[in-house]
Amino acid sequence: MSTPAYDLEVLISAERIRARIAELGQEIARRQASRRLVCVGVLKGSFMFLADLVRAIPLPELEVDFIGVSSYVGTESTGVVRITHDLARSIEGEDVLLVEDIVDTGLTVRYLLDNLATRHPRSLQVAALLEKPARAKVHVPIDFRGFTIEDRFVVGYGLDFDGRLRNLPHVALLHPR
Ligand code: 5GP
Repeated sequence: MSTPAYDLEVLISAERIRARIAELGQEIARRQASRRLVCVGVLKGSFMFLADLVRAIPLPELEVDFIGVSSYVGTESTGVVRITHDLARSIEGEDVLLVEDIVDTGLTVRYLLDNLATRHPRSLQVAALLEKPARAKVHVPIDFRGFTIEDRFVVGYGLDFDGRLRNLPHVALLHPR
């Protein structure tokens, strides 16, 4: 195995993530008037957040679906978003929670909100584990936010570097050597 060309530094520990998600889950359930909620995870980065978040939302009629979008080439947003995997079900008349790993420029969530709105959900909200406000190019409403971070490239807890490091249990800073 070759030595990686980067060093990793824990930014948000697994324990802090767990505690914050427990709070978010309670808050989401509290603000949800109906018992129903369709949680839509944005592939691939949100898979871990989604898995932990839904377990923290005590609603009896929660459903899970996924939407896939084309991701970054390298570490910069192109602003070009393409749906690579669509929802398996209709969301017409449903309360939908879009679950995203990180809101960076906001272009991905903006595109997805506009796209999902055309399908006439009853309500449409956003949960994001991380937000980098310094990078915002468009405003997106984040209803449930895990952590606000500085303009640094992060990996782990679902977030990748060139397809790897998604399996870290924490969020880490990646320092090139
Ligand atoms: P946006 O469209 O908001 O610029 O970008 C959203 C997507 O960019 C996220 O879903 C994520 O896939 C990717 N992204 C943005 N910032 C980071 C980062 O710091 N690390 C990683 N691994 N991906 C990021």
